[in-house]
Amino acid sequence: MKIYNDADADLDLLKGKRISILGYGSQGRAQALCFRDSGLDVIIGVREGKSFEKAKADGMEVMSVVDAVKDADIIMMLLPDEAQADIYAREIAPNMKKGCVLEFAHGFAITYDLIHPPNDSDVIMMAPKGPGPMIRRVYESGYGVPALICIHQDVSSKAKDLALALAKAMNCTKPGVFEATFPQETMTDLFGEQAVLCGGYTAMIKMAFETLVKRGFPPEMAYFEVLHETKLVTDLVVEKGIEGMWKNVSNTAEYGGLTRRDRVITEESRKGMESILDDIQSGKFAKEWVEEYHNNLKNMKAMQDADGQEEIEKVGGWVRETFFGRRE
Ligand code: NDP
Ligand code: MG
Repeated sequence: MKIYNDADADLDLLKGKRISILGYGSQGRAQALCFRDSGLDVIIGVREGKSFEKAKADGMEVMSVVDAVKDADIIMMLLPDEAQADIYAREIAPNMKKGCVLEFAHGFAITYDLIHPPNDSDVIMMAPKGPGPMIRRVYESGYGVPALICIHQDVSSKAKDLALALAKAMNCTKPGVFEATFPQETMTDLFGEQAVLCGGYTAMIKMAFETLVKRGFPPEMAYFEVLHETKLVTDLVVEKGIEGMWKNVSNTAEYGGLTRRDRVITEESRKGMESILDDIQSGKFAKEWVEEYHNNLKNMKAMQDADGQEEIEKVGGWVRETFFGRRE
């Protein structure tokens, strides 16, 4: 895999360009602040409300999406994935100038054909690896997080250089930047969050918690053992690999884990993962998600409400506040 570093990217490519960041949420705010600190001119386009006020308070030049798009040389789509197609059709496409670069931080709208950019626009992605606030913290420390870049349309023959320059403005070329395709980024990202990071991982924690509590163990202890301590093991796995984790836990934990793990993650789980990937690759998940958005997120809100009522949430709130002083 080729890695691009500082010497491969030229910030001057962005000098004098009007860069419009649409959205001022997790990614929009982090990227806007880093770009500004890297000496670039950014303007923010966002609807009126919480984000609009936040951008103003940060001293940004902030306006409606329609106004931000007019005369923009680079439009950065840092709006929610599920809303991008509607906002693009309504506010962006009718107002963007010929040849304007369209940039994304995730490939959802392009991969699933929800947005059809003009043929004369470069279409690129620069996705820093991490949540916005973390990206910003690392930038402020003088370093950056890794990023990936993707090129969907390269009309100017400069698309890759532009994506690399944007990555450099975030300090991402310090650790390194690699290239992938829009579908690769989109599908691996969706699969990771559904199968492991947000879906599979939390479902496993919840089931383990319920199993202990059902047998009469104190919920607070169950919480510590199956949720709180995942952080310690995850840090070990990320820093040293799975093999390194085994070396750092007790022999008892190692033997127990090695001999019992297949009872939890079974061949049925593999089939589940394959069906998750089927939905992602076929576009079924994307279609369902956009429909859910158009249905005012009714199912999602019901699931959020049900999850919020669970004992693990109540116990967790108490544990985090009592032992760690974290108030939600
Ligand atoms: P957020 O939900 O945090 O922020 C979305 C922003 O868009 C908010 O400022 C919101 O304003 C604004 N917005 C929503 N609807 C509209 C509208 N109709 N018109 C104008 N502005 C609107 O999104 P993220 O930052 O999480 O995601 C942005 C992109 O970055 C996505 O493509 C995502 O996949 C990608 N990404 C996100 C990562 C993350 O860590 N969060 C990581 C990597 C990529 P308001 O406050 O008014 O709702
Ligand atoms: Mg991801």
